[in-house]
Amino acid sequence: MNAIPDPVVKTLATLVWVGLATTLPLSNLWAETPADWYRAGQEVIAQRYLQSGAPDGEAKNVILFVGDGMSLTTVAAARILEGQQAGGTGEENSLFFESFPHVALAKTYNTDQQTPDSAGTMTAMATGVKSFAGAISVDQTAQRGNCASMVGASRMSLVDLANLAGLPTGIVTTTRITHATPAALYAKSVDRRWESDRGLPPTAKEEGCQDIAKQLVEYEFAGGIDLIFGGGRRAFLPEDMVDPEYPNVNGFRLDETNLIETWQARHPNGHYVWHKDGFEQIDASTEGPLLALFEPGHMQYEYDRSQDPAGEPSLTEMVLKAIQVLSQRSDNGYLLIVESGRIDHAHHANNAWRALTDTIEFSNAIRRAAAQVDLNDTLIVVTADHAHALTFDGYGARGNPIMGYAVRSNRSSEEDQTMRDHLARPMTVLNYANGPGYRRDDAEIDYRAMDPLLSDYKQNAGYWQYSATHAGEDVPIYSVGPGASVLHGVVEQNVIFHAIVAAQPKLSETTNRLVDQSGLPQRTATETHSQND
Ligand SMILES: [Zn+2]
Repeated sequence: MNAIPDPVVKTLATLVWVGLATTLPLSNLWAETPADWYRAGQEVIAQRYLQSGAPDGEAKNVILFVGDGMSLTTVAAARILEGQQAGGTGEENSLFFESFPHVALAKTYNTDQQTPDSAGTMTAMATGVKSFAGAISVDQTAQRGNCASMVGASRMSLVDLANLAGLPTGIVTTTRITHATPAALYAKSVDRRWESDRGLPPTAKEEGCQDIAKQLVEYEFAGGIDLIFGGGRRAFLPEDMVDPEYPNVNGFRLDETNLIETWQARHPNGHYVWHKDGFEQIDASTEGPLLALFEPGHMQYEYDRSQDPAGEPSLTEMVLKAIQVLSQRSDNGYLLIVESGRIDHAHHANNAWRALTDTIEFSNAIRRAAAQVDLNDTLIVVTADHAHALTFDGYGARGNPIMGYAVRSNRSSEEDQTMRDHLARPMTVLNYANGPGYRRDDAEIDYRAMDPLLSDYKQNAGYWQYSATHAGEDVPIYSVGPGASVLHGVVEQNVIFHAIVAAQPKLSETTNRLVDQSGLPQRTATETHSQND
């Protein structure tokens, strides 16, 4: 047998050293455990605290903003669109959160999937433990769709832990409140599709698994969640009940229960609203929990919001209301988690216009939030759960309309400088790697004949898919405030949980106290009710 060549020995030595230095599991799929993920994430943050001391003091309040599907390309294109809408060439503009002093990149893969989904990625951020695609705050020891496999696999979320720590909590989203990203904050499910009992398979019902909407109304960690704003009424209403806003839309539930009434009965001091007027009447100093469900499904895209029949607030309005309410409920701080959930949906439809206009609204919401809080005592983290396969290319001139065709700059020529392919078709600046914008010859709508500046335009896609896939590249993490400076470099996505926990003293004290011999925070019978108020 030949001796191992020296360069290989050096490479192996480097790999071992890197493995020790970062303490990330250099393990294979079969050896990896939830406790490994938890410990590795915790150690990354602990090492950074050791290196640089307590970063900028302690956080009282924590706000996590998640732009669903907000890839780096989405950020670059949205900043240009915002700049062009303000009359500039665009490239020089920055979205508000791009001014934050700390930036990192997150690796987003799920434990079983190279390109991730929103359930597994939010579970990583919410519980400190990476998991499989479809997982709603259950770890990789469970199997998707297998109710019985949930035993022992439920993980506590940031919202569970903050409630136990006595901090007021809020969840704001533009999607159905039972959709993957918000669901991972309050529910435990082996399948993201179990939003209502209509989505629960008979075996899962027999084995005692609860649908996600029911888990929300029965949520009981330490007094519950202070405010929940989003869409998704249909998972709460029985199928024979007509939606109050849309006469042609019925509830989804098969069990004949009205979970909104259940929620009201459980919270006699709570307030439920479903349209903008009701929302505006909520007094910020009101007591009791707040539940707002503005649509039977997802809320409107920001671009379409003014057409909503009953009216709904913008993401900015929901965030400002949430901060006003939560900040009055405790002197010890609060936890607010905000999802701009429809950037992702527009990307799935290859409709870059709505993805970018929702990204701009996301940036506006963060700008207004940052102005409302004291950044000396509030940690703000802005990130995405996963990327999307939006591409931004061609050699358009400076100031080229970002939604338009790529037109080269050539001042000395009178010729049309539009970039074209080998069939002389003009190239748009923005395209997708796959999705419904693929130019099929048999397509009902020929997007080649459409103006790319129109709001309903679907950008061209390289391969056809009914719904565009996510992308596997890293996503950005922008942060500001106490505890933000530990978020730098390239990290596994579950590190975000550990950075947030470490920044807030009450949250970290409670979380660390609940870690038992399993190496994970565990719910105990006494913890469930001890801090009810
Ligand atoms: Zn998606």
